[in-house]
This record gives sequence, structure tokens and C-alpha cells, in this order.
Amino acid sequence: MSNQDLLHRSLVSVWHPCTQMKQHETFPLVPIHRGDGAWLYDADGKRYLDAVSSWWVNLFGHNNPRIKEAIKQQLDTLEHVMLAGFTHEPVVALSEKLAKLTGLGHAFYGSDGASATEIALKMSFHYWRNRGQSSKAKFISLQNSYHGETLGALGVTDVAIFKDTYAPLLMQSAQMPSPDFRLAEAGESAEDFALRCANALENYVVAHHHELAAFIIEPLVQCAAGMAMYHPVYIARAHEICTQYEVHLIADEIAVGFGRTGTMFACEQASVMPDFICLSKGITGGYLPLSAVLTTDDIYQSFYHDRTAKGFLHSHSYTGNPLACRAALATLAIFESDAVLQSNYLKSTMIVDRMQVLTDLPIKHLRHKGMIFAFDVITEDAHFSRRCYQQAMQHGLLLRPIGNTVYFMPPYTISEAEFDFMVHQTSDMVRLSL
Ligand SMILES: *Cc1c(COP(=O)(O)O)cnc(C)c1O
Repeated sequence: MSNQDLLHRSLVSVWHPCTQMKQHETFPLVPIHRGDGAWLYDADGKRYLDAVSSWWVNLFGHNNPRIKEAIKQQLDTLEHVMLAGFTHEPVVALSEKLAKLTGLGHAFYGSDGASATEIALKMSFHYWRNRGQSSKAKFISLQNSYHGETLGALGVTDVAIFKDTYAPLLMQSAQMPSPDFRLAEAGESAEDFALRCANALENYVVAHHHELAAFIIEPLVQCAAGMAMYHPVYIARAHEICTQYEVHLIADEIAVGFGRTGTMFACEQASVMPDFICLSKGITGGYLPLSAVLTTDDIYQSFYHDRTAKGFLHSHSYTGNPLACRAALATLAIFESDAVLQSNYLKSTMIVDRMQVLTDLPIKHLRHKGMIFAFDVITEDAHFSRRCYQQAMQHGLLLRPIGNTVYFMPPYTISEAEFDFMVHQTSDMVRLSL
């Protein structure tokens, strides 16, 4: 079947995510036929380097033999069983592994990131209610936060383009100043700025803690805000403040978990164990939809009771799907056997080094955290991101700039020749997009 045919059928029958469909009148969809390593191939064999890990989910490349094999084996055994009243080896093994990695011993599963946010918010509220503190029913988040787009998650998200239309449907939440170090004053260090933002958080929590259930944050990098990065001292202070005033700290590590920021989980860089960790995206290496919320014994125990209604009566049909859990176990096995964090450290240093050539362009805030790299292009063009995306595709590179921010979040398996290509093509195409 020809590409043209497929594109037409897609536009007629598929409602694509995060898209004004009318723009596809002038801006064609890209039909992808197969993936291999860091590359995506269209039906004509033209290839694109997946520099954004297919929306931040892929860790070890497309067509990864180990993850693929694990799923195939599971497929021959058990594809799915409901998790209410039943259990199976992959979900137990995965929960044990995640408990060991995070220190949080109870894993509740969903199918995507937004459902993990919903679960953490509901659990936090319900915990306080089970404790006789029903007035603790509000949530706070950071300015420019992103926690997903279902109604509850959107209620704690702070991105106008996603949120404003639905404002009448959303629960109210308050936003704390973002420690994004691009917002620091001239001469102010990232650490001083983070501490200043933490003081503002403290003032708010002191005044409102009796009505606050939880503070939800994206630790170290607010990815959807344009790879806004901040100093770990903010997480450490937020944890102290939340602990002191009995407000839960929810770490949304959906984007930053599994090594993206250099450590397995971003919170480790602040030596903080939050009350909840939300995980998804990279958890299955980008193979299958899965999310998990991990929490403490204390929170788990508050639901453990003779009364059914005190339990956490929340479910999704595919909760703990065995195929997805098996993909996650294979992904974690790669971390263990291949010393991934160490080799990423070296790779990250080399990529940062290569990126110095970009400083010849009109850019600012060249920055990185682990395997996330970004810079902001100085331009007045309101359509820069779309033009840049199109230029990148012509250069064999899948990039999705956020506003003026161009970023790389490549699969960890990217080779030296591939990241050289990525940086070189970026330099060329940013110049052409200006
Ligand atoms: C992607 C993302 C989500 C939402 O995950 P979905 O699977 O898209 O619902 C939530 N929080 C963060 C930080 C994310 O990056």
C-alpha cells in the first residue's frame, strides 16, 4: 500500500493526539513502518533519528532484542488476567524490584502517566480522610507543571494551552514559584534561586497546611515546561517543609525516572524519599503502556481495615498487565547487567562537549541534566517550533521543540556516530529555521 493511501486513511479515521487536525492539510503526517535502535524508518526506507525517544518513552532503542524476547516469552504463557483477586509472577517480581529501587514498598498500577497522577492524588486525599483529617483535600504544584491531561491531573497541571479550555471542569489548585533556574536573577546561583523559591513554598504551606493533602512536583526537570531544570536543594527543602507540616510530597518521575537525569530516580540527587513516586514512560523501555504509583507502609496501612470503603477502590482493566510487567522487568535487567547509569554519564559528558558548537547560534541557556539536553533559541518567530520540527525531519532527525526550546532526550543506546549526527544536523537546521 502506498504512503499516500495510508496518510489519507489515517486522516479520515484516526484522531491524532495533541493535534489541531486541520493543520495536517498543509503539514503531512509521517507514516512509520519500523524502528531499529535509535532510528525510525518510513515505508520508503527514509530514516529519522529518534532524538526525543518517541515522547520520552524509549530507553534502549527500538527493536530491542532483550525486551522483545521477554515479551514473546510472556506471550506464550499468560497475556493478561485481572489483578483484583488474582496475581502473577511478573507483577510480583516487578513490585519487589521497584520497592528495592525506591524504598517504597507498595506498588499500585495503572496504564499511563495521567492515571498514575490520578491514583497518587486520590490516595493522598483518601489517606487523610482515613486518618480523620478530611479537610486536607487540596493540592499544590509548581508553576508550569505538567502531570497529565485527564481532569484530575490537569487540575494540578499549569500549562495554559492544555488547561484553559477546560478550566470550568477542573479542581482548583495553587501553583508555587518554579525553581526553573532560567528565571533566576542576574548573578543569583541556581541554588540560591531554588532556596528562594522554597521559602515561598514554606510561606504558603505554613498558612495552608491544614487544608493541603499533597504537593506534587516533577523532580529536577519540568520537561513539558521546556526542559526547565532546577537545583536539587529545592527537592530537599520541599521534603523538609512537607514533612514538618504534614503534607504529602508526590514525586512525578513519569518523565525523569529510569535514569534520565543521571540517577535511577531524580529524587536520589536530593537524597529524598517522597511519600509517593509516579512512574510510567520509560518503565517498559517504551514497549507497552504501564504506570505505577509507589508508596510507604504508613500510607498503605491507613487503608488496611475491616471496612471495605476504607480500602483504595480504584482500578483499571489492564492493571498490572503481565506483558507490560515483563517488558519492565527486562528493562530493569538491562540497567543491572549493562551498568547503564555509568555509561550514560560518559555519554552525557561527550554530548555536552559536542553541543558547544551550538553556541555559535543565537541561543541561550544551553543546559543538561543526565541524558536530557536543551537550549533556547532567540527568535521572534511564533511558529519557530513547527518550522524547526519540519526542518529537522528534512534533516533526518525527529525533534519536537517546545516553544523556543530545542531539546534532545535520546535513547540511551545512541552511538557516538549517531549523537554526532544529531548535533551536527541540529546546528544546520536551527540555522535554517531562523
Ligand atoms: C508524560 C507525563 C505525564 C502523563 O503521562 P501520559 O502517559 O501521557 O498520560 C505526567 N507527568 C509527566 C511529568 C509527564 O512527562
